[in-house]
Amino acid sequence: MSQQGYVAAPPYSQAQPGMGGYQGGYGPPGASQPLYGHYGGSTQPFNAPPTGMMKSPAAGMPPAPASTQYNQNVQQNGAHRYPAPPAASAAYGQPPQSSYNSMPPQAPPTTQQITNQMNAMSIGNYAPGPQAPVNSVAQQHLQRPPPMMGQPQMHPGPQSPPMSPQMSPNQFPPANMPMTAPAMAGTPLSPPPVAGSPMGAPPMGAPSMGAPSMGAPSMGAPSMGAPSMGAPSMGAPPMGAPPMSGPPMGGMGGPFPGSPPPGVGGFQQAGPGPQGFPQQPGQFGGPMAGPQPGMPGGFPSGPSQLAGPPQKKLDPDSIPSPTQVIEDDQVRRGEQVYATNIRGQVPPLVTTQFTAQDQGNASPRFMRCTTYSLPSTADLAKQCQVPLASIIKPLACLPKNETPLYVVNHGETGPIRCNRCKAYMCPYMHFTEGGRRFQCGFCNCVNEVPVFYFQHLDHMGRRVDFYERPELSLGSYEFEATLDYCKNNKPPNPPAFIFMIDVSYNNIKSGLVKMICNELKTLLEKLPKEEGRESSVIKVGFVTYNKVLHFYNVKSALAQPQMMVVSDTAEMFVPLLDGFLVNYQDSKAVIYNLLDQIPDMFANSNESETVFAPVIQAGVEALKAAECSGKLFIFQSAMPTAEAPGKLKNRDDKKLINTDKEKTLFQPQKGVYEQLAKDCVANGCSVDLFLFPSQYVDLTTLASVPSHTGGSVYKYNNFQVETDGEHFLRDLRKDVQKPIGFDAVMRVRTSTGFRATDFFGAIHMNNTTDVEMASVDCDKAVTVEFKHDDSLGEDTGALIQCALLYTTLSGQRRLRIHNLSLNCSSQLSDLYKSCETDSLINFFAKSAYRAILNQPIKNVREILVNQTAHMLACYRKNCASPSAASQLILPDTMKVFPVYMNSLMKSSPLVASTELPTDDRAHQRLSVQAMGVEETQLLLYPRLIPLHNMDPSSDVLPAPVRCSEERLSDSGMFLLENGHSMFLWLGQGSSPDLIQGLFNLPSLAHLQPDMTDLPELDNPLSKKIRSIVNDLLEKRSNSMKLHIVRQKDKPEIVFRQFLVEDKGLYGGASYMDFLCFVHREIRQLLT
Ligand SMILES: [Zn+2]
Repeated sequence: MSQQGYVAAPPYSQAQPGMGGYQGGYGPPGASQPLYGHYGGSTQPFNAPPTGMMKSPAAGMPPAPASTQYNQNVQQNGAHRYPAPPAASAAYGQPPQSSYNSMPPQAPPTTQQITNQMNAMSIGNYAPGPQAPVNSVAQQHLQRPPPMMGQPQMHPGPQSPPMSPQMSPNQFPPANMPMTAPAMAGTPLSPPPVAGSPMGAPPMGAPSMGAPSMGAPSMGAPSMGAPSMGAPSMGAPPMGAPPMSGPPMGGMGGPFPGSPPPGVGGFQQAGPGPQGFPQQPGQFGGPMAGPQPGMPGGFPSGPSQLAGPPQKKLDPDSIPSPTQVIEDDQVRRGEQVYATNIRGQVPPLVTTQFTAQDQGNASPRFMRCTTYSLPSTADLAKQCQVPLASIIKPLACLPKNETPLYVVNHGETGPIRCNRCKAYMCPYMHFTEGGRRFQCGFCNCVNEVPVFYFQHLDHMGRRVDFYERPELSLGSYEFEATLDYCKNNKPPNPPAFIFMIDVSYNNIKSGLVKMICNELKTLLEKLPKEEGRESSVIKVGFVTYNKVLHFYNVKSALAQPQMMVVSDTAEMFVPLLDGFLVNYQDSKAVIYNLLDQIPDMFANSNESETVFAPVIQAGVEALKAAECSGKLFIFQSAMPTAEAPGKLKNRDDKKLINTDKEKTLFQPQKGVYEQLAKDCVANGCSVDLFLFPSQYVDLTTLASVPSHTGGSVYKYNNFQVETDGEHFLRDLRKDVQKPIGFDAVMRVRTSTGFRATDFFGAIHMNNTTDVEMASVDCDKAVTVEFKHDDSLGEDTGALIQCALLYTTLSGQRRLRIHNLSLNCSSQLSDLYKSCETDSLINFFAKSAYRAILNQPIKNVREILVNQTAHMLACYRKNCASPSAASQLILPDTMKVFPVYMNSLMKSSPLVASTELPTDDRAHQRLSVQAMGVEETQLLLYPRLIPLHNMDPSSDVLPAPVRCSEERLSDSGMFLLENGHSMFLWLGQGSSPDLIQGLFNLPSLAHLQPDMTDLPELDNPLSKKIRSIVNDLLEKRSNSMKLHIVRQKDKPEIVFRQFLVEDKGLYGGASYMDFLCFVHREIRQLLT
């Protein structure tokens, strides 16, 4: 539609003969392949230096064992168990070979063997089998056989309960045993389940903790994102794939949304997988989660209630620590230059500070992958179920010390491309015949080199201008697009921003309208502009509305702005063209005048009803008339109930929660909004929505346009100027000033053997390949899933080229190209070695949040658990060295995967609790769709920074600690942030000096309960802490409202939701419990 220009000679979206499996079965995504298909894992010896090299043990850190094996003491003891330092390569899940070598007595593990071991062994530690006992605490525990006393025993072992082994609701996962400490040690593998133990029961649905409902939406907020209390709204609500429309939106859907939920189907994992991975209804999900006797206390307290020898609480330090993993990677790879010259190289973690240097592959700031070594066949992919996906943030901001992208101009003919697959000139094109031809790395087609582009080759067969041409030597660069790439073959006009303010009674009364108008006066001076330009060329326009719309003529020639009212909202049109969209600098005086007048004009209005869809319609019409793309900034406070297209009614129904119909709460109302989204996309009109609700507004529907147009939704529950104003303004400023591109189409090409099959983001798709985004800003990411359609060659690897066609801030048409080369391998161990947990979790979050549109949430959770267990079991079975079945063995690259996964399952969209406001859940669901890897990582594992022992004179930020109550202390002060909410938590025993220094108050008791700001005091502590807070606010794409909470105060409950290692407030297991549970699942799978 809007991008016809993008389709050069052979239409862009046309199936290309050379594109591998394109011909066959590139039907509707999801239909073409078994649901399992895309999951692959493979491993292959790296052609390039193994990634392992990069992961060499950090100085001072005990090298991680090949695969990290956890039982209760693993971490502390890991080093001891291996007296001899493991080889560097061991840092990764070690390749089977080496592991075998290191354990002479053991033959490669077979399933049978593992089973035998499992039957024979007890919770072990690292030392394999019969080898010398390692003197460790763990071991000691092990040696003591007696099963737990007092705990009602269920059938030991997998056999247990009637239904199916896996289903036994009450079974205590084995791993659990070690945790309960000494008494349990040595318990047989599938140790007697403890009835009523927190574990056995599916963490979810349990009412747990009896989270006080706190009534007001202001507190009841859901976990992650934006607790209503803090309601920092999340980024952009993409709506991954609400089935807004049938066929037209079909592309959006990928397998999840569209596919029927055969059992648990649609979601990644086909029902009873080929692996014999049975669905386990109930395991983790709702029903069984029912309250159980032992439950309330959370895991640790459970056992302690039992009779028998005193139970020692399991040391939480013994399970893999995300903060440790983050810190280790920072030590190992931080402050280094990461050169992208090696195929399949695993980049530093997204949390690590590093400098990227483009040497032929796109920087990880633009593209990250779930694994950098694809399995060579679909079968392998299916076997391991590790999703193959890339998370692409095409316009990501680069730090100042990294080189901005070069812009290449290939002249009138436009960028040089492969004739067959249309891939753009890039480092993967291979020049032959003395430089007269090039062979495409994607489809292998041999193309003529245009005369003007000809260049001789050197003795290595490389063009002599290799280093002079970014498109030959770099992973990322831009091409100037020719008119062929422009709508109607005309160069685009500069984009426009239209500010559309709801002036209904509540917004006037709250002071919001006045606040917005005041802010715009300064904000418009800072409209984004292209680097090097003196001023912004973006045009601006203004609309106010309640039941009717008011357009303003702000032409520079006018002395006063003129208002034109449109009351017929059914047939929206723009009453004026000339003077509506203007250059701010030219019309500054008139605009000032207007912004001064607006609050007064409506000061006496009693109109409380508003329209909404006509507002968007008006914006699109205005852009259409001006023949430009742009963005609407809409400030809306309530559900649109006025008689007009898109009128909504309250359909929030808590009775649907936990039923098969719960999904309907997340499905937008169809009709008007669906059509609007398409109109917007077709016209390059993006919508950002700022919501100020005091009750349910049907966010799902209101956000349906923003989430298909590259827009964002911000939400401020019960907005008050005094407490939320600053927070909102910070968001607005960031939002307006962000680097952004308009009218974008993204296409992801791959080399033969695999292809992009599904896309997640604030996007729209008219077909199966073109990702349309009315706008795309520097924070928006698209997650792309890949599936095999053939086998992949280990020699050639797998190539990905992402091409984004967009209009720049100054109205230039550009093509931004990102290239990335991955390895391919027939060894699963290579795949696991090259996995990136942060990317995996980004994919799982997006796919699960989309899946709940089509199937019961309970099923989605079950799938997540099953897939987690499956991925880990496959590793255990195929890649790990033989060891006691009772040991939990995780690939080194995935050792914190379970804690993130558990956090995801406790996130508000996946928790069926009637206490969570539907709009908040919907908001998080949509926001996550457009997030990059960094954002999802932080959202699912917040940073908890201890500030009480900090040296105010140091520049170093104290190292974050794990997100658990265990880490708090009565005399402590902690800052917690997840990119959307921020808390300053003060222990009851905080020192008076600290309180005095920070708040200028004699004691904690004097603190005002709803403080959201730190006073500016002239002492080192105050300055330091304010600077930490400000740095974080600056760094994150969303502004965050600061909540100051005292230990044991009521609002603390909101803070606690973010302690994701603990039991969930609205249901959900603690990390420890979850790990045990998964361990048990793994063992079930292996038997
Ligand atoms: Zn090609």
